[in-house]
Amino acid sequence: MIPVLEPLLGEDELNNVIEAVKSSWISSQGKFIGEFEEGFADYHQVKHAIATSNGTTALHLALKSLGIGKGDEVIVPTLTFAATANAVLYCNAEPVFVDSHPEYWCMDPDNLEDKVNSRTKAIIPVHLYGHPCDMDPIMDVAEDHHLYVVEDAAEAHGALYKGKKVGTFGDISCYSFYGNKIITTGEGGMCITSDETLESKMRILRDHGMNTNRRYWHDVIGFNYRMTNLQAAIGVAQLQKLDQFIAKKRENASYYHRMLKDLRDDGLISLHPEMPWAKCVYWIYCILIEDEFNLKRDGIINELMKKGIDTRPFFYPITIMKPYKKVSLPHAEELSRKGLSLPSSLNLDFEDISKITDALKKVR
Ligand SMILES: *Cc1c(COP(=O)(O)O)cnc(C)c1O
Repeated sequence: MIPVLEPLLGEDELNNVIEAVKSSWISSQGKFIGEFEEGFADYHQVKHAIATSNGTTALHLALKSLGIGKGDEVIVPTLTFAATANAVLYCNAEPVFVDSHPEYWCMDPDNLEDKVNSRTKAIIPVHLYGHPCDMDPIMDVAEDHHLYVVEDAAEAHGALYKGKKVGTFGDISCYSFYGNKIITTGEGGMCITSDETLESKMRILRDHGMNTNRRYWHDVIGFNYRMTNLQAAIGVAQLQKLDQFIAKKRENASYYHRMLKDLRDDGLISLHPEMPWAKCVYWIYCILIEDEFNLKRDGIINELMKKGIDTRPFFYPITIMKPYKKVSLPHAEELSRKGLSLPSSLNLDFEDISKITDALKKVR
């Protein structure tokens, strides 16, 4: 059985966890938390990093620190993991959904300005499946209309837009370290920013809204969104390997590109894009099953599963699901219908990927 994504953990992670346990600092104080935050901020060359309990709480914390609340609108792509939109709803604000760019799947900046009105407060670009958003036009719209930008980089640690790391464009950027993300802490998240005021707001909101000079005194209603030292212990070890992990993701993507080229040339599939201005980190390698393929996407999922190969369909557009506002966004709907994520764990090699691509060719 080839799972779709599994973490790669080694001796360093284990030794750090042992050290944390032996130190008895297993809750949300201890040396690994500061070390992980500092390392993550340095990696992105930003001033501050605030570790959180998961990627969803990171997004909620970011929006709260920006004062997003009732009556506000926040622009989000419809093709993303539900947490992006849920974080807006947790603030009692309204997510306003935009369609995907058909070529590289992230939010289409051409549709952005139409969605802006006097209630719009922020945009959340999501760097989907490891590919960066087209940040220049997004930042232009944000600047023109005085909107905050919160990057959701949960799937794109270390990806580059025009040579600059994603996560360094917005006012705040959010990451996830869930077990299947590019680096993991089991559950975990991070907010990064270079704004001191936002940093201090996030630190206070993360810790029950408690006044930092007066214990048990609360000036605001906060949350417990802290990361534990045990999680950070794993994170410190994972962060050291991030660039190596990205190189491996890209190497495996190049194997997929090569082995699937003939299916692409026959017009049966489209390959995971990488725009000329992008360095994609291929969190999970994806293809589109075009209508010319003799089997539909879900049929292919079943056939591959019979051969011990686990795959995933794309996310559903948020705007077709019951709890959310219904809007028709055709590019996202088409991508969601055709999209298939292939096994992308870091321990896969050329042989594994040949096996997967051979199986896909045989279902034809
Ligand atoms: C994983 C993910 C999140 C949420 O992260 P959790 O750590 O699972 O809470 C948010 N946004 C996107 C795009 C994600 O892929």
